[in-house]
Parts: sequence; C-alpha cells; structure tokens
Amino acid sequence: MNSRDDSLEALPLRDDLRGLSPYGAPQLEVRVALNTNENTHPVPEPVVRAVTRRVTDTAASLNRYPDRDFTNLRTALASYLGHELTEDNLWAANGSNEILQQILQAFGGPERSVLSFVPTYSMYPLLALGTGTRFIAGERAADFSLSAESAARQVGEHAPNIVFLCSPNNPTGTALGLDVVEAVYEAGEDRNTIVVVDEAYAEFARFGTPSALTLLPGRPRLIVTRTMSKAFALAGARLGYFAADRSVADAIRLVRLPYHLSSVTQATALAALEHHETLLGTVEDIKLQRDRIVDELKRLGLTPAESDSNFVFFECGGDAHAMWQGLLDQGVLVRDVGIPGHLRVTAGTEAETTAFLEAVESYLARS
Ligand code: PMP
Repeated sequence: MNSRDDSLEALPLRDDLRGLSPYGAPQLEVRVALNTNENTHPVPEPVVRAVTRRVTDTAASLNRYPDRDFTNLRTALASYLGHELTEDNLWAANGSNEILQQILQAFGGPERSVLSFVPTYSMYPLLALGTGTRFIAGERAADFSLSAESAARQVGEHAPNIVFLCSPNNPTGTALGLDVVEAVYEAGEDRNTIVVVDEAYAEFARFGTPSALTLLPGRPRLIVTRTMSKAFALAGARLGYFAADRSVADAIRLVRLPYHLSSVTQATALAALEHHETLLGTVEDIKLQRDRIVDELKRLGLTPAESDSNFVFFECGGDAHAMWQGLLDQGVLVRDVGIPGHLRVTAGTEAETTAFLEAVESYLARS
C-alpha cells in the first residue's frame, strides 16, 4: 500500500490543486475553543424545541425532494432583513461559503478574475481556485484599513469581474465605510463588475455602523451576503444567504445544484427565523466581551484592532506562534491567521473570555 501522499500524487489531479492542503482550522479537543468565530453560546432551549418540531414535521416527507426554490425561507429571510426586500431579492445556500462559490460559478470562471483586499477571509482565494477564477490580492494600508480612494483606484487598475469586500473584515474585525462600497461600485461601472459585500459578522457591528443593504436600491451589480453561522449561533445548520437585485438570484439558479438546500436545512432555518429575537439575544453579551477583550489587551500592553465583529485581531508584540502555543498549553485555542506578530480570538461567553484573558496574562508574565 502506498502512503497517502504517494497515492494522491498518482491521481490525475488538476495541476493547480497539486501540493495544496485542505482549508480548515484545527478541530482540537480543548477547554476553551475560540478559534473559528462561532457563537459559543449553545442554542437556547425554546429554539431547540422549535427546530425539533419543524424537523419532525418534515421527516415523513423526506422521501420527496425539497422545495427547490425554498420560497417560504426566502420570504422569511426578506422579512428578517427588512429594507423593503422581497423573496425575489433573496437567495440561500449551505453556508455563505456556498453562496460565494455560486457567485464565482455564475460571474467568475476561466478568463475571469476576482479582486479582494488582503489580509481578508482566507477562503476567497480557495473558492477562486476551485472555480478557475483568477484571484487578485489587492492591498490595504499598513494598519489594514482600506480607503474609498485606494479601493476604487485598485478596481480601476485591475478591472476585475468580481470584487469581494469583507465587512466587518475577517481577520482584522473592522467594518468598511459605505463610501468604500459606493466607490468600488462606481469604479466597476465600465467593466460591469459584480460587487459582493460579505457581511457574515454584520449583527455584531458597533452602534452606528451601517449595512450595505441600504445601498441595494438602484445597484443591480451589488450583492450583500449574510450567514446564520455567527450571530444566529447556527454554524452547524449551514445556512448562508444573500440579498441583491432579483436578476442576481436568477443568474445563480443557472449554476446551483438542483435541490441544494435540504428540507431539514429549510425547516431548521425557518424555526431559527421565527425565533430570531431569542437567538440574537446573545449578541449584546458577545459585544460586551469583545469590547472587554479590546480594553484588557490594551491594559496588558498589546495592540488590538477596533472590532465590529465577534472577534478581536491583536498584535501580540512578539512571536505569534509561540503565544498561540502558550495559550493552547493552558487549554485556550485561538487562531494564528499567519500574519506575523498577530493573533485572532473569538469573543466567547464571559467565562471563556476570562479564561482567555487569564491565559494571556500568565503567558506574558512567563515570557
Ligand atoms: N465569510 C466570512 C468573512 C467568514 O468569516 C466566514 C466563516 N468563517 C464565512 C463567510 C463562511 O461562513 P459560513 O459558510 O459558515 O456561512
């Protein structure tokens, strides 16, 4: 029997996939896991009951394919988002990763390109690769910010078919001003560029940070993506969605797999939306813990970025990997995002946040 690497070598894998490793944060058994920006609060009991009821109701008809157009779910999502959106403006898939992949399948592909501004969500280049779309790594300022002027200039220079704007940005945590979205949209006019604003963390934004949903009217090339994996505490359900002009959803129907959204997923998401106020009840607490992390890390002499999300990106003043290991040795798992001197931590429950801060303090005292 060959070793796994040898047998993979022997397969007729695409050249551009050779030598790559699959994406994924380590799923380690630890006391405190704060590495994947999940909502660490368990799903509240009333929501568990509602999901169970709806899934039970659908179980007897699992012999049939699901509603291919998930009309009830699109209607419920439109009513959750507001902004006078209707079900025709909404689309959903198995996580916003699948949403982004479908956007690339419809508007990207061979001979086409997608521009994003790094550091940003590390799945963007991988989704581009998988769909044969050329990924262009745009630049940010040294403090990781992105101005409207710089973003528009880079769109003009590269003339991409698609732009991914991550706001709040993963891994840095800060939201973009709407002036950046507007400027990028205008700069993409000549090329008919699709502009995607990935708002996976929008519900955690600091007071007064507006959503790009407000920009949708009159902008048929703008897509705003969201997910239930973060604020809704439903990462396991795999439900992502977008709002856009109805023609965008029509374009995506050309590439989506038939029946891609299972009846169980649709039932779970409908139950979650029915109880969205209960589910989103943890958001304020998470924001408090996030702000506490920012304040405490500053007190400990580190440099955290201001955050509009449920995580904090911070400069750790030394070897990031050594600190990551030092925290892990104390049972606290954070994310080494591969940016020298920086780590990212998810804001968890109060107890988890305390455990993280104590682990940082004790690591710093020893190093
Ligand atoms: N966008 C961003 C910015 C993310 O951080 C993530 C998850 N880490 C996603 C999209 C994908 O989330 P999901 O597929 O769970 O909706």
